[in-house]
Amino acid sequence: MESVSDTGRDPVRDPAGDPAGTAALRLMAVHAHPDDESSKGAATMARYVDEGVEVLVVTCTGGERGSILNPALKDRPDIEANIADIRRREMEHAREILGVEQHWLGFVDSGLPEGDPLPPLPDGCFALVPIEEATGRLVAEIRRFKPHVITTYDENGGYPHPDHIRCHEVSVAAFDAAADPDAYPELGEPWQALKLYYDVGFSMGRIEALHAAMTAQGLESPFDEWRERHAKSQEDGKRRPPNITTRVDVGDWFERRDQALLAHATQVDPNGWFFAVPLDLQRQAWPTEDFELARSMVDSPVPEDDLFAGIRERVDA
Ligand SMILES: [Zn+2]
Repeated sequence: MESVSDTGRDPVRDPAGDPAGTAALRLMAVHAHPDDESSKGAATMARYVDEGVEVLVVTCTGGERGSILNPALKDRPDIEANIADIRRREMEHAREILGVEQHWLGFVDSGLPEGDPLPPLPDGCFALVPIEEATGRLVAEIRRFKPHVITTYDENGGYPHPDHIRCHEVSVAAFDAAADPDAYPELGEPWQALKLYYDVGFSMGRIEALHAAMTAQGLESPFDEWRERHAKSQEDGKRRPPNITTRVDVGDWFERRDQALLAHATQVDPNGWFFAVPLDLQRQAWPTEDFELARSMVDSPVPEDDLFAGIRERVDA
């Protein structure tokens, strides 16, 4: 694949010839709502922050239409009336715990449509904004932050929320457009990120491993319903199985992940399934967070255990 030229200038990484932009490794994680960054890939981000990587979370929407999932905070008019502000504060708290930077892309939550037939999406929501407009905002942020690695969701969005699917579409489009001098020329100098990953946080391999570990200990597994749902979706043949290419060892960062998720107090049940498996058991049964390498501009054979595999060599040089 591409190699660094003799002049030391890497035309792929550094199309604008900006040597100052290559000093540190940078990771951008694009998410749909505040709280998604803490439930998907959070331990990986915390580990890379501790290793000196600059990590930026981009949050597409404000999460204004998220349901209140913490039983202790349900049916509270004071919370419902101020949910946008509350979620901004929750995000700030989670951001501090993870040690990342965070940027709001500024779109409005589409909400998860429920019912049969499904109701139409609300006017002006993220999933209805023209994709060129949403892509442009992310392109501007990519060109400003200059990430080497970008993470997002797969084409199913991880789960079928219209904002998650849109987040995937916008991230993939922006990965290419940010590097294209003819695309959005008014939004900064081109920047080619080197790898694009899809989060694979909840593979059935992991669910089954945690389920087996709980059962072996005589503990009640929280994954029965999950396994039934999965078996049904397999019958429907709707979703391809994830292609895990990359396992990042992050067992030592599970506490930070959980603390960050708990910071989104309105959005999680502290007694719910996410926190049901003891962390030591998780570390034994499945100590990694997993990803699918979707695009790579560097020589990085899979499987791998580092999102920056094939990049460190180039950037440290
Ligand atoms: Zn979400």
